[in-house]
Amino acid sequence: MKSLIEARKRLLGRNLSIAYDVPLKIVRGSMQYLYDEDGRQYLDGYNNVAHVGHCHPKVVEAGLRQMQALNTNTRYLHDTILNYAERLTSTLPDPLNVCYFVNSGSEANELAVRLARAHTNARDMIVLDHAYHGNTTTLIDLSPYKHDGPGGNGPPSWVHKVPLPRMADDAQNVVEVIGTTQKLCGFIAESMPSVAGQIVLPQGYLNRVYDAVRAAGGVCIADEVQTGYGRIGTHFWAFESYGVVPDIVVLGKPIGNGHPIGAVITTPAIAGSFDNGMEFFSTFGGNTVSCAIGLAVLEVVQDENLQAHALAVGTHLLNGLRELQKHHDLIADVRGSGLFIGVELTKDDAPATEEAHRIVNAMRNNAILIGTDGPSHNVLKIRPPMPFTMNDADHLLTTLQKAL
Ligand code: PMP
Repeated sequence: MKSLIEARKRLLGRNLSIAYDVPLKIVRGSMQYLYDEDGRQYLDGYNNVAHVGHCHPKVVEAGLRQMQALNTNTRYLHDTILNYAERLTSTLPDPLNVCYFVNSGSEANELAVRLARAHTNARDMIVLDHAYHGNTTTLIDLSPYKHDGPGGNGPPSWVHKVPLPRMADDAQNVVEVIGTTQKLCGFIAESMPSVAGQIVLPQGYLNRVYDAVRAAGGVCIADEVQTGYGRIGTHFWAFESYGVVPDIVVLGKPIGNGHPIGAVITTPAIAGSFDNGMEFFSTFGGNTVSCAIGLAVLEVVQDENLQAHALAVGTHLLNGLRELQKHHDLIADVRGSGLFIGVELTKDDAPATEEAHRIVNAMRNNAILIGTDGPSHNVLKIRPPMPFTMNDADHLLTTLQKAL
């Protein structure tokens, strides 16, 4: 273990982090379980990327079959990319029916910003405080979590940050920012802010924000990288839970179940503005193997009714966590929807950062993986692969009780 850590330090950029005080060397995954090199099984309560389960056989099979047949790019005709786009857009409300495929959530958000700029000929963007949208230069500018954090240089003049809302009336903050801009490009937000601490936005907030942004000529971008594909249980997309329809939807993480796929879906009008003569091409975006995998993931989500499953198991877990809250002063709030859950820990009304750290490590030592998030890293973050069962939820609850 020590030699691996030393080799990482020598060979890889030093600002990669490693989870847990005692790092894990994972060598195998199967559905909601991970295995270390000694064969110890860990219950995965954290990795949302393996959405339909680590190494789901149907996804592996689809990738393998396509890798043996062909892997090439979007400059040739192929059925799979169209079947995938057809199936993906059928999960979204009209007029969201034009797809672009790329290779990561960052690339997808980056492209979303290009689409927004092409459509509005403007630059000013509004973002929520503590948001994270990706690792590119532009997206660090749009991510207060990064540019306001260690090593950050603050936002550039075209980025306007509004506080996380506590009630619908907080949409007024967006209206006020719009008043300070000459021309608005748009508003970008996760439909349920994750890095900010697994937050469910107040009902009515996005409706008012979207109205104000559109009235000012801007476009509304929903970052569904963490929240899409049925995770929140009640709806397939988290924006649907507020009754809004974005102009651009950004997808990543779960849609490839670990294979790098990002996607942007927008309206014909915005796609038309972007089609200005300059070709759009991504060497790997929309490649044949990625599309076969992406299609298989979507089929599994739908065929295995994972959204309904996330609602049932997630509600059971949330109820169990609220029961724990009654007996543990450390738990200030339990929130979330489906298998998108946050447990905020405080002590004497201050963020219980140290306690959160110790609990997550105690859980890891008891073979259950969860994480922390939020500006003070005091929110336990639970967002397991979707096959997570009722028994897994009960096991997590008993172990968490002991850790607390
Ligand atoms: N948006 C959100 C909400 C994310 O959580 C992330 C990744 N954590 C990204 C975008 C960037 O995705 P990627 O790491 O695949 O580039």
